[in-house]
Amino acid sequence: MKVIYLDNNATTQVAPEVVEAITPFLTGEYFNPSSMYEAARGPADAVAAARRKVAKLLGNARSNEILFTSCATESNNTALFGTVAANPNRRHIITTSVEHPAVLNVAHDLERRGFEVDFLPVDSEGRVDVADFVRALRPDTLMVSVMHANNETGVIFPVEELARITKETDPGIVFHTDATQSVGKQPIDLSGNFRHVDLLSFSGHKLHAPKGIGALYIRRGTPCRPFMLGGHQEDGRRAGTENVAFIVGLARAFELAVENHDADVARITAMRDRLQRELVERIPYLHVNGGEAPRLDNTLNIACHFIEGEGILYQLSAYGICASSGSACTSGSLEPSHVLRAMKVPFTAIHGSVRFSISRYNTEEEIDRVIEVFPEIVGSLRRLSPYWDARRDEPTPEALEMLHETEMPQAR
Ligand code: PLP
Repeated sequence: MKVIYLDNNATTQVAPEVVEAITPFLTGEYFNPSSMYEAARGPADAVAAARRKVAKLLGNARSNEILFTSCATESNNTALFGTVAANPNRRHIITTSVEHPAVLNVAHDLERRGFEVDFLPVDSEGRVDVADFVRALRPDTLMVSVMHANNETGVIFPVEELARITKETDPGIVFHTDATQSVGKQPIDLSGNFRHVDLLSFSGHKLHAPKGIGALYIRRGTPCRPFMLGGHQEDGRRAGTENVAFIVGLARAFELAVENHDADVARITAMRDRLQRELVERIPYLHVNGGEAPRLDNTLNIACHFIEGEGILYQLSAYGICASSGSACTSGSLEPSHVLRAMKVPFTAIHGSVRFSISRYNTEEEIDRVIEVFPEIVGSLRRLSPYWDARRDEPTPEALEMLHETEMPQAR
């Protein structure tokens, strides 16, 4: 069965051009770039060129402001732990309640170590209120970490504005953004709209490079203590022999994303919008999570009232369709996503959320197939749901009463 891959916010197919670019460094040019002999010059030059390329694509950053890491999780950990280690006099951190766990769990860990952390709430569309942010800033604020685009809903945060306000309030506050979902998709110019951002994380495998390569931009002069200690690689800021091939791949993938940007955006947005329109038209009691907020063009997160996202995913999988749900299955209990919880998605829908995320490799025919099978899947699951009256093919009167409740009413 042909796979229809619509889970591109989880990871992406490696671009053929990227495979071509990295292959020499997995075969003939395997030398350690730190070695002194002539043969190592090729890998060393390739890493230097990739660094210049990534710096340039981020808006004419300096190449020594780019740190290659193993993934966005490492970049985020370095940004947060590195900043607090370098600034012992301040103890207050601001982030949001909808960050990826690679920021959220670091923030919780810092809380346990005695830092004060404000987790900003979001509204029902997943938006942060700028006034809340301004109120949260304090004289002892050490850093801000606000993601650029949310991985579950695609909702875009006003990072430009928040970073500007931060620096106008106190240039000593370090501003970090996790841009893992937006690099290559959204305009990011560290000399322009993002000029007030000090630290920016991202990852190769979200933009058609392999898994296992990431980057952290560290603006010159930003205090950030190294997280990985060892050799002198990366100017002594991240020890460990460079992953030459994947560094080359990351730079090539980023370059392709920028080169293809306009054409990709037009196609991807058209596919996403059509998918959304058709599903909303064909399926009652469907809600688009974050649908009213500025959103990534490739992301559609829909909440199907009265059914479980996991059931939908299994059935989609039977058709070869790959998507994801917001729920994380931990220790046997299905916990709804922290992002949808923060958005106060009604409890009749919070378990029924499904995320489709599109890439340049998807086709209109694949979208047609989802439009064809998804309403059938939702219909069949609803007929089995205790909230659905299968005979009349509509929700039970009790279910309708609960439609806007965010918590399950206590059993009477
Ligand atoms: N941050 C965001 C917003 C993400 O979406 C992800 C991956 O899903 C990560 C961080 C972690 O990325 P990585 O898998 O490269 O560690």
